[in-house]
Amino acid sequence: VEERTPIPKQNLRVPGPTPIPSEVLAAQTNPMINHRGPEFAAIARRVTARLQYFFQTTSPVLTFPASGTGGQESAVVNLFSPGDHVVAITIGNFGNRLAKIAEAYGLNVTRIEFPWGQAADPASVEARLKELPSYKGVLLTHNETSTGVTNDLEALAALIRRLAPETLIVVDAVSSAGSIPLDMDRWDLDAVFTGSQKGWMTPPGIMMIAASPRAWEANKTARLPRFYFDWGPARKQLLEKGQHPTTPAVSVFYALDVALEMMLAEGREAIFARQQQAGDYVRGRVRAMGLQLFADHQNASNTVTAIKVPEGIDSKALLKKLREQDRIVFAGGQAHLEGKIFRIGHLGYFTEADLAQALDTLEQRLHEFGFKS
Ligand code: PLP
Repeated sequence: VEERTPIPKQNLRVPGPTPIPSEVLAAQTNPMINHRGPEFAAIARRVTARLQYFFQTTSPVLTFPASGTGGQESAVVNLFSPGDHVVAITIGNFGNRLAKIAEAYGLNVTRIEFPWGQAADPASVEARLKELPSYKGVLLTHNETSTGVTNDLEALAALIRRLAPETLIVVDAVSSAGSIPLDMDRWDLDAVFTGSQKGWMTPPGIMMIAASPRAWEANKTARLPRFYFDWGPARKQLLEKGQHPTTPAVSVFYALDVALEMMLAEGREAIFARQQQAGDYVRGRVRAMGLQLFADHQNASNTVTAIKVPEGIDSKALLKKLREQDRIVFAGGQAHLEGKIFRIGHLGYFTEADLAQALDTLEQRLHEFGFKS
């Protein structure tokens, strides 16, 4: 095995995990406590109440020791029964993952797919849904991290609700919640989940998920097997004791507690405005360099920007150079987009100077690699 060496300081520009503010990092060095004791209960209650503000819901926000994929699985197993018909609206890799999980659990999944780089078009979704037999749920992605596209969730949810008043709207908000507008109750969403390593300025380890009253009703009769991600015991223990059924990621809770305090101090609307600015800034710089955005302009994400690899440029070598020489870490493309796009994360904790430094250096290295705009 390789010897342990210090982790280098980097300009980490992948769409999660994100850099962490020093106050949040420091919080994790607190001593361990009993996860069934009063100190942890106070943290758990505070964290979940503050998460409600960001999810914009009166429903409890449950947490599980997991990553975003755990949120996808948790939503599926808590809401449905074997053979249920669900519709998966997919615009990229993570939408496909949610559909695959539903299939793995024996649901009957109809996919409504859009080309990668585009958002789900509400009119086409409506036309497709009208052709389908009744469906118990609709699974969709708010922000598709693999392509840098944000769906118009409010419009999609409204049309789904109009066509199917009782269907369960399941939203993957892994890379959107806490960063861009997401109004769970007003948009009448039934299950919404995210992960601590994305917009929350916190290390990986905590999955957060909220369920509407309609979803809790469905949970009573849902018959898919579930244990670790079962919402019932999680809600009971949280509300009665400020605890979890299993051992929570205590140190990540310390971090999330401080991060949420910082986010509250900044305010939801101010964060959304800053994210909008960041998106505009990155897209503006990318275009000014002569590069092309992968996402269609209207629906480009304010948390992650996907860029087409210019003709003749070896993106793997470019990202390696940036990582090794400049300590700037971008993300590559996923699935069939490997080598075709690369992605710049701008969510969680960052300053405009971090983005500027990453983009300045990218521009310089691109020219060294022979790119001519
Ligand atoms: N959904 C979306 C939209 C994501 O961006 C990700 C991760 O990037 C996931 C799901 C899966 O999350 P994780 O890798 O934390 O399991």
